[in-house]
Amino acid sequence: MSTNTQRLVILGAAESGIGAALLGKQQGWDVFVSDGGMIKEQFKMVLVKEEIDYEEGSHTAEKIMNAACLVKSPGISNKVSIMKQVRNAGIEVCSEIEFGYRYKGDSKIIAITGSNGKSTTTKLTYHILKEAGYDVAMVGNIGYSFARQIAERPCAWYVMEVSSFQLDDIHQFRPDVAVLLNITPDHLDRYDYVFANYVASKFKITAYQTTTDHFVVNQDDKVIMEYLATHSTHAKIIYFTMDENNKGNEGGHINGDHLYILHDGEAMDMSIHDLAIKGKHNQYNSMAAGISARIAGVRKEKIRESFIGFEGLEHRLEYVATVRGVEFINDSKATNVNSVWYALESMKKPVVLILGGQDKGNDYSEITELVKEKVKVIICMGLDNTPIHDSFDNIVDVIADTSTARDAVMAAYSMAASGDVVLLSPACASFDVFENFEDRGRQFKEAVRNL
Ligand code: ADP
Repeated sequence: MSTNTQRLVILGAAESGIGAALLGKQQGWDVFVSDGGMIKEQFKMVLVKEEIDYEEGSHTAEKIMNAACLVKSPGISNKVSIMKQVRNAGIEVCSEIEFGYRYKGDSKIIAITGSNGKSTTTKLTYHILKEAGYDVAMVGNIGYSFARQIAERPCAWYVMEVSSFQLDDIHQFRPDVAVLLNITPDHLDRYDYVFANYVASKFKITAYQTTTDHFVVNQDDKVIMEYLATHSTHAKIIYFTMDENNKGNEGGHINGDHLYILHDGEAMDMSIHDLAIKGKHNQYNSMAAGISARIAGVRKEKIRESFIGFEGLEHRLEYVATVRGVEFINDSKATNVNSVWYALESMKKPVVLILGGQDKGNDYSEITELVKEKVKVIICMGLDNTPIHDSFDNIVDVIADTSTARDAVMAAYSMAASGDVVLLSPACASFDVFENFEDRGRQFKEAVRNL
């Protein structure tokens, strides 16, 4: 343990802030945690137990501006007043993954980012490594924060879900394998409404990689390919794609109903029907996870077994039940239009679609064609359903308004026929009616079970 007695200030006391505080204390820093809001009980208990100095409800500048290093939680915008002061003073600002990185030792990192599919791909990659007997932890936006895992149970491998906010303040963070799944507009409020800023932030995942590292990217994503054409990376780029012409190249592709992965001259293939998680988006996620696992040295037989046995995640195209021939699917995590596109794309039956919530300025034109083709009824579930009516009144015959999960499920069930599927895939944030997307998904499932 080092004897660093410099001041480490952490802004934000949720999972990542607490992780940085624990690791900082363990490494001998003089730690102070400041949260502008009220700290959740579960996190406060940790601070008290570990005797870490903290404040909540406001940021006291005198206790913050003397920091040698400041760890900013990903939820905090640079626009808040204390951050402006910190930046102006030239204090070093790190994200929590950057801070953790400095204490990771010889361990290796597979870091996964993208606009959609991060959690699924992270969990699948973790599942493969775990099944293969690796000493591995799943960290980041899913599970423990990276810093906390290092403080409490360091591992040889970390599979990490990384958001653009975490990447904004890295200075050395260098994953051995970086995965970039896709880039579609999201969180633009945090990037001055400039899409290019958000794209650049995602690409920071490869910024400090070297020639021995791998950068696994989606070749079918136009935004990614455009950026790559004008920006270089030191890492070895490995592509995955739906294009069968990628045959013979290192990476992944789909040909007919087979998924192929080629790494180090060794090929593996399997039927997409054997993948436990369905839909085109999950073929992308599976290729990304499979390639990463191959790079990490996992044998192809293990990968195949893990693809078959993977359970998927709650609230992502999660099968709930079939009631009198009507199937119910919970995709509450679909909080943008692109993820609804993939949900609809994977539906094989007529769809009663539950849509709506807190609109983030959605452009629904992306899903118009799929809605025309597959959706017979739309049930709106939100406080203001105007954007949905504006986009679909001329396209779908029946559109009903509800504002609770129970009413939405009842309405959907009454309008569905045997052989239909009721899909909750809202394209919106949940905060108008629910606590979060998990709460929305659980209330939906509860209502289905009560039918
Ligand atoms: P994230 O962690 O990036 O939000 P999740 O794995 O939680 O991603 O999935 C979020 C939503 O996006 C779900 O509705 C899921 O079905 C959908 N989705 C998953 N993978 C992809 C992908 N590769 N492309 C588009 N949508 C996806």
